[in-house]
Amino acid sequence: MKNVIIFGAPGSGKGTYSEEIVNRYGMGHISTGDVLRAQIKAGTELGKTAKNYIDNGQLLPDSLMIDILADTYDSMPAGKGVIFDGFPRTIPQAEALKEMLAKRNHDMGVMVELVVDEKVLLARLLNRAIEQGRADDNEETIKKRFAVYREQTAPLAEWFEKEGMRHTFVWKEGEMTKEDMLNNIYALLDTLK
Ligand code: ADP
Repeated sequence: MKNVIIFGAPGSGKGTYSEEIVNRYGMGHISTGDVLRAQIKAGTELGKTAKNYIDNGQLLPDSLMIDILADTYDSMPAGKGVIFDGFPRTIPQAEALKEMLAKRNHDMGVMVELVVDEKVLLARLLNRAIEQGRADDNEETIKKRFAVYREQTAPLAEWFEKEGMRHTFVWKEGEMTKEDMLNNIYALLDTLK
């Protein structure tokens, strides 16, 4: 299986769809948000640093994230492909990922872009706050995360376009189910080896 980069705003469904994709194709899953939350829970130095950024809706520094990503990638089973969920989030991170994979003779694979209206995203994240109690799912931090996404992450879509990797899936609120969205994504991934 090729690598997959799942890309979208907070609340667009990156984590949810990643789990389904992992179940179907048996690949590895790297969620940088989950890696950081595990560090916070374990009370490590990295966790303390991460908490300051996450609670403020800001991105961690690229150099730190790039090291974390490389270590996590090298700990995954070889040859099965990986879904990158939450990475890259900036152009320097994307350039670093490209270089890291090239060094290992691995392919970047495809980018799956999830496009969801911001009003829908806000409602989903406020609902997730009730269900999961994530510290960064409050209205003030969510709005900061949206701004960070628009300014620092969304421009990356063009970067992927230039790499010939971009595949866009638009969520049509009220017209689609989660399964419809997944089937559209599977139609792409089934063509990969
Ligand atoms: P969401 O996409 O809903 O914001 P994530 O779990 O992917 O949730 O990320 C939560 C937070 O973790 C981000 O707001 C950011 O502070 C931090 N983070 C995760 N991935 C990265 C990354 N690649 N670069 C910088 N910060 C990151």
